[in-house]
Amino acid sequence: MSARLIDGRAAAEALRARLAIIADFFRASTGRPAGLATVLVGEDPASAVYVRSKIKATEEAGMHGLHHPLPAKTSEAELLALVDTLNRDDAVDGILVQLPLPKQIDSARVIDAVSPDKDVDGFHVVNAGRLAVGAEALVPCTPLGCLHLLTTELGDLSGANAVVIGRSNIVGKPMASLLLGESCTVTIAHSRTRDLPEVCRRADILVAAVGRAEMVRGDWIKPGATVIDVGINRVPGAAAGKTRLVGDVAFDEAREVAGAITPVPGGVGPMTIAMLLRNTQVAAHRRAGLKPPEDL
Ligand code: NAD
Repeated sequence: MSARLIDGRAAAEALRARLAIIADFFRASTGRPAGLATVLVGEDPASAVYVRSKIKATEEAGMHGLHHPLPAKTSEAELLALVDTLNRDDAVDGILVQLPLPKQIDSARVIDAVSPDKDVDGFHVVNAGRLAVGAEALVPCTPLGCLHLLTTELGDLSGANAVVIGRSNIVGKPMASLLLGESCTVTIAHSRTRDLPEVCRRADILVAAVGRAEMVRGDWIKPGATVIDVGINRVPGAAAGKTRLVGDVAFDEAREVAGAITPVPGGVGPMTIAMLLRNTQVAAHRRAGLKPPEDL
């Protein structure tokens, strides 16, 4: 039997429609739109595409996007000075510094400089710590999007065996914290894990965030499991010179075994930007002394 497809595009669209209503409410309550400042240093084409789509989505969601493009030769001090200005700017609720940064800039110092209450990427150690202890935090957008897909698909996750492959600060670790927060029994697997296929076979929920094309095979999956594929890998396409995107999971094989699965593209990817908009509204509400809506 073929697994149900978890439609990230539809879920993201529904969330964005809800966020547009919340944006109107915020503007009516405070007299100003929620504001997201994006910072792009240099002209890396992939980063430029990401930032453009984030700005477009921000405006479409009824928020104010303030973009700050900086030249590739920008010094760390100059970038830190801009972050400081944005931290103090009352019209700015969220600050997103697009990574990776050029070599002369230490990303960790920049992430550290962003005010934790405007840290809509959820990368600041204060937010990572808050998430780890189960306190109110701004949570990284990709794992938050994965959790949204999982709870929409499965409802209550408590007691489920969850395996997260990958231990990055951006995806794997926060994903594991979120699943623990939902009372799953969580295993974090990584590049040194012994017998990864066997570990995966125990998972009712399997989240793959590795960056290796189609590494997770069909026979690694427990029948009926829910599979969330975070990976985005570009591989040669059918036609000469063309490429296509695949996830970390061998989709066609996994689909025969899993109960539900996210496709790549069209699964986790669209949720990431939706959650950035969500985090910006949450940050804006908290900064304005308003309670963010319960269902966000
Ligand atoms: P990362 O490189 O920081 O981390 C990868 C992790 O995979 C590491 O913790 C490593 O231990 C683990 N790993 C590597 N090889 C392994 C192996 N052979 N077996 C088991 N584990 C192994 O990557 P990341 O930033 O966490 O991203 C992971 C993937 O998710 C990438 O493909 C990235 O493009 C994608 N991603 C997608 C989105 C999205 O919006 N959909 C967002 C962020 C990242």
